[in-house]
Amino acid sequence: MNMEKFKQLNLSEELLDAIRREGFESPSEVQEKTIPLVLAGKDVIGSSETGSGKTLAFGAGIIDRTSPGAGIQALILTPTRELAEQVGQTIAKFSHKKGLRVAQVYGGVSMGPQINSLRHVDIVVGTPGRLLDHLKRRTLNLSRIKFLVLDEADRMLDMGFIRDVESIIKSCPTNRQTLLFSATLSQDIEYMAKKYMRNP
Ligand code: AMP
Repeated sequence: MNMEKFKQLNLSEELLDAIRREGFESPSEVQEKTIPLVLAGKDVIGSSETGSGKTLAFGAGIIDRTSPGAGIQALILTPTRELAEQVGQTIAKFSHKKGLRVAQVYGGVSMGPQINSLRHVDIVVGTPGRLLDHLKRRTLNLSRIKFLVLDEADRMLDMGFIRDVESIIKSCPTNRQTLLFSATLSQDIEYMAKKYMRNP
């Protein structure tokens, strides 16, 4: 496998190795377009669906720009527990070699283990309601966030999470990078982008 197109994206050797081990030969369209923007520090809106490879599209830059043990540097919001688990597992798989720790945080399970894991992780993937719960209890510290991802943003808004999502966004540092992925680009999504993103 020559991985030529992946190599041209300026990813770390460590991450390229992990990608090679997954058997990926070349980046998907959304990866090819998104990864350079994320590495260049830009805010990004991606209109793409599950199955397009969007997890690695936003995950690659985040993994390469996150340091183990330096606080929670990336927060990924998903509409459902299932997506949080799926995204969390994918990010964990690609960042394992680097020693990054990833927590999955969603409702319907007890708080205790989540509170513990939130003390030591670098990347958090979760659903808005439970994340807000942790914020209110001060068991989630977002002061070190460099990357905020809104994954399946349209579904998140359709499910009525807009106020929770806005509270969480407002708790993140303003000099963060914001990445928004959505299958559809509705007026609500445009409102979010206008209000919370910088020249996406
Ligand atoms: P996602 O849209 O991120 O949920 O990814 C959908 C599926 O595509 C997952 O099963 C990934 O393992 C796979 N995938 C992602 N990127 C690539 C790639 N560059 N080459 C081949 N498969 C990929």
